[in-house]
Amino acid sequence: MASDDELNLLVIIVDVNPLWWGKQALEQSEFTLSKCIDAVMVMGNSHLFMNRNNRLAVIASHVQESHFLYPGKYGDVLGDPGNSLTESNCSGSKDGKYELLTAANEIIMEEVKDLMTKNETIGQQTETLLAGSLAKALCYIHRMNKEIKAGQEMKSKILVIKAAEDSALQYMNFMNVIFAAQKQNILIDACVLDSESGLLQQACDITGGIYLKVPQMASLLQYLLWVFLPESDQRSQLILPPPVHVDYRAACFCHRNLIEIGYVCSVCLSIFCNFSPICTTCETAFKISLPPVMKSKKKKLRPAL
Ligand SMILES: [Zn+2]
Ligand SMILES: [Zn+2]
Repeated sequence: MASDDELNLLVIIVDVNPLWWGKQALEQSEFTLSKCIDAVMVMGNSHLFMNRNNRLAVIASHVQESHFLYPGKYGDVLGDPGNSLTESNCSGSKDGKYELLTAANEIIMEEVKDLMTKNETIGQQTETLLAGSLAKALCYIHRMNKEIKAGQEMKSKILVIKAAEDSALQYMNFMNVIFAAQKQNILIDACVLDSESGLLQQACDITGGIYLKVPQMASLLQYLLWVFLPESDQRSQLILPPPVHVDYRAACFCHRNLIEIGYVCSVCLSIFCNFSPICTTCETAFKISLPPVMKSKKKKLRPAL
């Protein structure tokens, strides 16, 4: 059992990419964004319910911004879980439900509505800003770590619920965020709805989290509760889905293509798909030996002389 001094912070990042969810709606899929948000709220509620010291944050990852759904503009919940929330929340608890849960759900619903109506998809931006959301989550965790009382210990976990496809453009930022999380001992779990995500596979593998592509989107909540809700120290006692094969391809810095074999700058470790005499990242000029064609000619000439 977790002791009273231990805080568990769960940050849930939901991909709310309007293009992807719009496509789902057009295809008459039974799984809609509102159902996904419902599942997230149940997951969040369950996490808060497991222990009164548990903390929750929910971030929506949109194509134009990363937005905190909870704790929203109503303020911070860490100091006193009931404080700012229940007072600002007018409906309160009518049915004997724990007020914190009612308040959390209302805030999340309001913020999602705000976010989706405020942001009209302008311009060419179609990719979910996942790396940015992860960075925001890390910053939030860092802040919480500074704000806890002395002697308290905080364990943090990030759960990404991913819908749209990976963005190779974000490869660099993404990897930086993952390594930062690894250094801070923060688990990254990924629950993927649609297409496999090589980036998240790497994130989970590096930080020791679980990566799972749900076999059926409609049963998202069940996977969230069975697989992702248990704390990391309980996971060893569960029989969880087997680890996936991790796609460790890297994106080249020149075209952001995923490549298996490429050129690596020996100074800054930048990856390129084509050879270039000067590294475009750190501007190191490489001393090139003579082209192989010239060398072979010389060798052939020598025995003749
Ligand atoms: Zn390239
Ligand atoms: Zn370089």
